[in-house]
Amino acid sequence: MKKGFRILKFKKDKPVFEVQNISKSFDGRPILKKLSLKVFPGEIVGLLGPNGSGKSTLFNIAIGAENADSGNVYINGKSISQIPIHLRSKQGLGYLPQTRSLFNTLSVFNNIYGLCQIHEKNNKKAREQTESLMEKFNLTHLRAINAGVISGGEGKRLSLARLMITKPKIVLIDEIWSMVDPLVVQDMQKYILQIQSQGVSCILTDHSVNTLFETTDRNYLIDSGEIIAEGTKRELLKNSLAVQKYFGAGFVNY
Ligand code: ADP
Ligand code: MG
Repeated sequence: MKKGFRILKFKKDKPVFEVQNISKSFDGRPILKKLSLKVFPGEIVGLLGPNGSGKSTLFNIAIGAENADSGNVYINGKSISQIPIHLRSKQGLGYLPQTRSLFNTLSVFNNIYGLCQIHEKNNKKAREQTESLMEKFNLTHLRAINAGVISGGEGKRLSLARLMITKPKIVLIDEIWSMVDPLVVQDMQKYILQIQSQGVSCILTDHSVNTLFETTDRNYLIDSGEIIAEGTKRELLKNSLAVQKYFGAGFVNY
């Protein structure tokens, strides 16, 4: 699915999400070095970088699963660095880890409803939200099936539906396209664009660069813990450092 025909302009004055000068070492080994990036409202931003370059670490710091050695994370200009992990979703931050994070022994319905109930005390409203999310993510026909036996693509749709429960402003999605078939790749692109159309910003990581570029509005490239290039697909592919460190001279973009 190409999004090339969409002309999107983003208000570049107030980022919805910002990381400023984040540094992180593990056992004395620097992983992130004063890394900064911004995401504007409604933008889909790609975070590219070789394996082990610190993409997941950055997400873990943003959600509060890891502490940064220094630096700050902001949502709508407000620092969330001191806010505990379970309260960051209230600030509008959503996170989808690379690993499957569903309750396998619960039905598709209960995977959504169980979480809705935590955020919505009114059971009728929680049910309505569950039905609406199942419809949006094409899950209604799977409602009674246990999450443990649904397919990989269905599981990803269910994960995205669960991600929307807290009504996030920005979602961090780690390697959503790893190990899925081409049809599922296209399906997930469709749902990510649907999330964007509701005004939610996204940061996506993935190793399938062409798929990422088809989906993102702007991108950052991490190498050795630093952002070494930023821009649109066209800009990145023209950047000689980005080609040297990541894409390689033989990279074919179609
Ligand atoms: P990416 O997501 O870009 O592939 P990661 O953020 O997972 O990279 O990892 C970056 C580096 O940090 C890797 O070398 C990884 O081994 C290391 N790392 C990540 N988490 C930890 C941890 N909790 N303890 C020690 N090293 C870690
Ligand atoms: Mg990772």
